[in-house]
Formats: sequence, C-alpha cells, structure tokens
Amino acid sequence: MTHNVTLIPGDGIGPEVIRATRRVVEATGVEVNWEEINAGGEALKQYGKLLPDVLIESIKRHQVALKGPITTQVAEGFPSLNVRLRKMFDLYANFRPIKNMPNVPCRFGDIDLIVVRENTEDLYAGLEHEVVPGVVESLKIITERASTRIAEFAFAYARKHGRREVCAVHKASIMKRSDGLFLNCVRIVASQYPDIKYRELIVDNTCMQLVINPQQFDILLLENLYGDIISDLGAGLIGGLGLVPGANIGVQGAIFEAVHGSAPDIAGKGIANPTAVMLSSALMLEHLGELDAGRRLRSAIEHVYSEGKHITRDLGGAATTQEFTEGVLKQLETV
Ligand code: ATP
Repeated sequence: MTHNVTLIPGDGIGPEVIRATRRVVEATGVEVNWEEINAGGEALKQYGKLLPDVLIESIKRHQVALKGPITTQVAEGFPSLNVRLRKMFDLYANFRPIKNMPNVPCRFGDIDLIVVRENTEDLYAGLEHEVVPGVVESLKIITERASTRIAEFAFAYARKHGRREVCAVHKASIMKRSDGLFLNCVRIVASQYPDIKYRELIVDNTCMQLVINPQQFDILLLENLYGDIISDLGAGLIGGLGLVPGANIGVQGAIFEAVHGSAPDIAGKGIANPTAVMLSSALMLEHLGELDAGRRLRSAIEHVYSEGKHITRDLGGAATTQEFTEGVLKQLETV
C-alpha cells in the first residue's frame, strides 16, 4: 500500500534533515507518495502566503504530514506557523518521547519518559493586548474540553503501551482557577484508569526532580507552555535537541516534527543532527500502521549510536548529516 504524506521542508536546517529523513523512510521499503509543499518564508516567495492554500488542502487530503522546523521570530513578526498549523487542524496532543541513545554521554543515567503536552490553548492562545501604555495583558485560556481530552490521550496511551504512571504537572498553587480546572479534569479521567498510577507535581519542583532523579518519571502530562519548557529540559537531559522527536495528533490528522527549531546558526553547513526528525518519521510510520518499518528505523538509528562511528557534532562526534544518514541506511540493510 502506498501512503500519501505531505512533506514540509521548513527552513534553517529543516530542508537538510528532512531530505535525510526522506531517504531513510524510503529505505525501509514502505512506499510513500510525498507531496512536498513548503510553509514560511520560502512559501511566501513562491505562493505569496506563509501558509499557502495548496499546503492546507494537501494536509486536509492526506491527514499526515512530516514537517521540518519553521523559524519563529521573537517578539515581532508573524505569529508562529507551527502553532497556527496545530490549531488549524486541531492537533490537540503533542507527544514527545525522550529516551537516551547509546554512546551519548548522559550524566543523568538511563532516561525513558514521555511528555504529553496540550497543544491548542493556554498562553499559546496568543491573546495579548496593551491595556494602557506600559501594561500588557496576555490571556491564559484553559478549558474543560481541552484538558479532558489531553488527559484521555495520556491515560489511553499509558494503558495501550503498558506505561506505569501519569504525572500531571501544574502551578495550581498560584493559578488556582486555570491550573485548578486542568487538574480537576485530569483527576476525573485518572479515576477511570485505576490500573495507571497517577500523581501531581508543581512545575518548579518537577524541573528540580527531573534533574535530580529523572528515572522516577514515566508520562508527564502538561498544559501547553509548561510542556514546551519541560520538553527542552528533557532534551537537555539526554544530550540535546537533536535527539527528541515529536508528533502532533488530532482526530483528523497528525503532523510529525522534531522538538528542535530551525537552528539558523548551523543551517546550510551540513552538520545538523537528523536523528530527531528521523525518529519523528518512525512515529509517523507507526501511525500509518507500518509498525515493523517504524521499529526497524528506530533500531537502525540506535545501532548507529551503539557503533559510535557516526555521531554528529552536537553530541560530541564529528559526523556530518550525510555521514550519519549513510550510517542509518547501512544499518537498515541489516536490521
Ligand atoms: P524555536 O524557538 O523555533 O523552538 P530555538 O530558539 O529553541 O527554536 P533551536 O533552533 O531549537 O532553537 O535550537 C537551539 C540550538 O540547539 C541551535 O542553535 C543549535 O545549535 C542546536 N540544535 C537544535 N537542533 C539541532 C540539530 N538537529 N542538530 C544540531 N544542533 C541542533
């Protein structure tokens, strides 16, 4: 069976790591019909729009996309396209498995945790205005609907994949109403899953605990902003952003992308680590029902790390994007 997938190269290191990933996905033997359409600055030049209609139509049609990072300007400029895409397709669950790789020095020991982040609301609602000069208000939106469905996603995943615990992360001590509502919704869902352990932890304490004893965590369930921050902290625990994949999942579609951004400092140099996007594509293959191909791709990537010959510079090695990719392709022939 051929799968139709929208391919969004992105910018910065995006096109390099997406090109590498496309090669390894094809090498798994799974037939993919890629429809490549960009978003962001490149799309503006080509289609006159940051999010071209053809791209939106393509995602609607195929319901699966693999995406490279798109630069988000700080403080000014257009709103984040990544956030707009997630909202437009109501991709409410952001799923980020954080697992260390062999041979990547990790002073925090073996780590295997999953960040489940609410993807559609919170301070990412982007509702900001100047009340009077010198006073800006930014609205944190938390709803019962979004909190309940992200909790259901986390617990259902835990049950299906034999994970032991869900930990809801919050700051309800200060944001009693908004984070309080989030927690209440999660508690109701948790009561329907007596087989999964449930606990709650304040976000600042979570940061400290993650650094002191990350092994205690299994699935972390968070609102949007806390989820964003904790994901990067988690990436740091295992050696960096180059290693953490992600999936944005909704009822009518899914977009797979790395946690990292466009890394303009290393763009075009051929040294970006494609692991995070490759692992995202393994999640995509599993989502498409290609469980064996997803497993083989992940295993090939792990083998490259076990061998230790093709580790990229962000993790202390000297390999280029291409050398790493060749390493994965070679492993795919054997696994
Ligand atoms: P965004 O705001 O879009 O999330 P960011 O400001 O968090 O982006 P990133 O682009 O994610 O920044 O990257 C932060 C730094 O981590 C980069 O400057 C780069 O040096 C490094 N980095 C990120 N991704 C990779 C990668 N795939 N390979 C190598 N280094 C990377």
